[in-house]
Amino acid sequence: MFGRAPKKSDNTKYYEILGVPKSASQDDLKKAYRKAAIKNHPDKGGDPEKFKELAQAYEVLSDPEKREIYDQYGEDALKEGMGGGGSHVDPFDIFSSFFGPSFGGGGGSSRGRRQRRGEDVVHPLKVSLEDLYNGTSKKLSLSRNVICSKCKGKGSKSGASMRCPGCQGSGMKVTIRQLGPSMIQQMQQPCNECKGTGESINEKDRCPGCKGEKVIQEKKVLEVHVEKGMQHNQKITFPGEADEAPDTVTGDIVFVLQQKDHSKFKRKGEDLFYEHTLSLTEALCGFQFVLTHLDNRQLLIKSDPGEVVKPDQFKAINDEGMPIYQRPFMKGKLYIHFTVEFPDSLAPEQCKALETVLPPRPSSKLTDMEIDECEETTMHDVNNIEEEMRRKQAHAAQEAYEEDDEMPGGAQRVQCAQQ
Ligand SMILES: [Zn+2]
Ligand SMILES: [Zn+2]
Repeated sequence: MFGRAPKKSDNTKYYEILGVPKSASQDDLKKAYRKAAIKNHPDKGGDPEKFKELAQAYEVLSDPEKREIYDQYGEDALKEGMGGGGSHVDPFDIFSSFFGPSFGGGGGSSRGRRQRRGEDVVHPLKVSLEDLYNGTSKKLSLSRNVICSKCKGKGSKSGASMRCPGCQGSGMKVTIRQLGPSMIQQMQQPCNECKGTGESINEKDRCPGCKGEKVIQEKKVLEVHVEKGMQHNQKITFPGEADEAPDTVTGDIVFVLQQKDHSKFKRKGEDLFYEHTLSLTEALCGFQFVLTHLDNRQLLIKSDPGEVVKPDQFKAINDEGMPIYQRPFMKGKLYIHFTVEFPDSLAPEQCKALETVLPPRPSSKLTDMEIDECEETTMHDVNNIEEEMRRKQAHAAQEAYEEDDEMPGGAQRVQCAQQ
């Protein structure tokens, strides 16, 4: 790109990262960084590595001393500490120094903000599966503190304030409690007279709009756009819409979507699951039914001629699942899970009739003699095999436990009821 210096150590990389010539002025550097950093900010979907590189390059080149070292000896020289080290830069700090801390989220308090950041307000927002399928918008009325416009957040008519007499302006009060004859406890608490602000306002000078509180309550209607394909727990953020306070960067209002259960459909990512029960006749001889979709379209679901559906079988319809977020013309699959209801019993003549159409039974070649040699058995119903296995496991664990701390002589053992 630019004339490479003889390779002692790379001293062009930082210029290339910012896309400026080696002769770039401080202004050029600023502009180049500003443009590239917005484009590559991780909160806006940029590459964090690239964002870091930009910050590092800018941090070095914007400092005349470091730039000179870099120009002469390259990156390695800086790493070796000649310029105070270029590798411990927080890219977000550099970014904030350009755009202020409110750009692009990230609540890290360790980033050395100049202003206090107000708290984010989080509200759960219940939505139906239909809402997430079709998209919707919901109007919500919230009340929030806003800076009083009469006094611009000063709290006084004159704009003046005095030091709080309660805490001498420190905002904190120290209280000492006697805990015992030779023990005291010293506690520091925010001053109650000024709510920790350290200033107070003369009664006569108080702003009539906010009565000296600096903020007033305001009702605000927010319109939340729930887009097609959004997920349970997805956040919708209104930047800077939380409570305002003087000298504070206003936090965000964050809605967290909470999907309500649906009586018919279950969602797994981009796919939908639907339960349907068939009679045995339908499963064997064919069926059709109407499935009402989440947008009220009526889908005709039918078996192919001659097709037999087995119990627990799944079938899928392409492009009838959930719309994909931000690509709503693409959709997942709709899976239908079939349960087949068998008759509880059949009469002998019904069996005969079935045997005329169904494959014959495997002929039992047992002779009467052989049968006589067998033992008779009785089968009973198992309604829920998983439940039964779980009970057995719990029983075994209990036995092992009791064996472990069994007393000599054998303590009594709890007998589990067996069904
Ligand atoms: Zn005070
Ligand atoms: Zn006011």
